[in-house]
Amino acid sequence: MLRPWRTFPLRCPSSATAHCTFFCFVESRMDAKARTFPGDGNTLSSSASRAPPRQVHVSGEAAEDGPISLQEWRGWGCVSPVPTMVTEVIEDLKLLEEDADAPMSFGGTGGKLQGEFKVEEDKKHRAKYQALGDSEKKLQFFAARQIACRLLGSRNYLCQKCWLPMDDCMCSKVLPCSMWHGMRFWVYMHPKDFLRQNNTGKLLWQLFGVEAATLCLFGIAEDEEIMWNTFRLAGKSKVWCLYPNKSALTESVQETFSRAKFQSQRASIAERNEDGILNFVLIDGTWSNSAAMFRRLKEQAKMVWGEDDLPCISLATGASAMHKLRPQPSWDRTCTAAAAIGLMSELQAITEFSSYSLDKQAESVEYALQVLLEALTARRLRMGRSITRKVRHTINIC
Ligand SMILES: [Zn+2]
Repeated sequence: MLRPWRTFPLRCPSSATAHCTFFCFVESRMDAKARTFPGDGNTLSSSASRAPPRQVHVSGEAAEDGPISLQEWRGWGCVSPVPTMVTEVIEDLKLLEEDADAPMSFGGTGGKLQGEFKVEEDKKHRAKYQALGDSEKKLQFFAARQIACRLLGSRNYLCQKCWLPMDDCMCSKVLPCSMWHGMRFWVYMHPKDFLRQNNTGKLLWQLFGVEAATLCLFGIAEDEEIMWNTFRLAGKSKVWCLYPNKSALTESVQETFSRAKFQSQRASIAERNEDGILNFVLIDGTWSNSAAMFRRLKEQAKMVWGEDDLPCISLATGASAMHKLRPQPSWDRTCTAAAAIGLMSELQAITEFSSYSLDKQAESVEYALQVLLEALTARRLRMGRSITRKVRHTINIC
């Protein structure tokens, strides 16, 4: 999985497997097999991976079988109300389950329908997608369906906080931490990354809370509205996207925040006693998805500010500055959490930001990344899958 953070030349997506990082390695193998039942007590053996797929009944009476409540939705880290289109998709799935007389079942990464029900649902959702007139509706339907399936497939299987299977929950090892209140992350996440075990964007709100690091799901109107309303109020001068903007000059953290114009803006914000919170959008999707996500951000920026110019910054240093003491980073240095670490580290180096302990906050993200890496490794071993020399080497230099 390649992420778009760095300014130095990016590898093409196809080369990602050649430079296989631990994250993409775990993901590709783990995704391949149907999931086991949670707590089936047999997950230590490799036979667990041959256990039948999970069945989910949305039409049941019990709360865990019903539609998604606000509490459940927020439990996963979301901040919006339960999206209307997600609820509609779940209702449609429920009706289809009744009509087709085939139980809904999930495998794979949490959102993959399986069996007879999948065949029926495929026909139905394709027809619905085709019938939708404009591309905006199509995108919203795509996002809602992805998210609905992931929600249902992950229910009672994944820990809501860390998005790992409950047997592998890492929450007790992650200590929440305060982030400097003068900045806010927006984790702009592709629906296909939602509830992924190896997603690293989730670590940010797990550590800092949803007010400091807020999830915004691509294509979910309720989420995007919250984000853009905040940006509208903040003003364009306090919003940046971490992405190399090819159509305009991308500035480094140093260039953006050291220059006189920024400094004088900060002074006048302080005089007016405004909060002056700096908003940073982290695009949390694979390299191939991130182009569409960035395009959408630009379109929305144009609607809000009337200009097709979303301020972009990119990290100048890559991973080397964050890993002064280590010969190599132990995790995918292009992952979303690593981008947050990079940004905090680069801001720390600027005098104006040097007193906010951003280096300590960056360290806590780094620690959480290591915990996640260990949890994914332990899971892999528990499932009876091998850890190759290459992966072991990567783990050893943590
Ligand atoms: Zn957990």
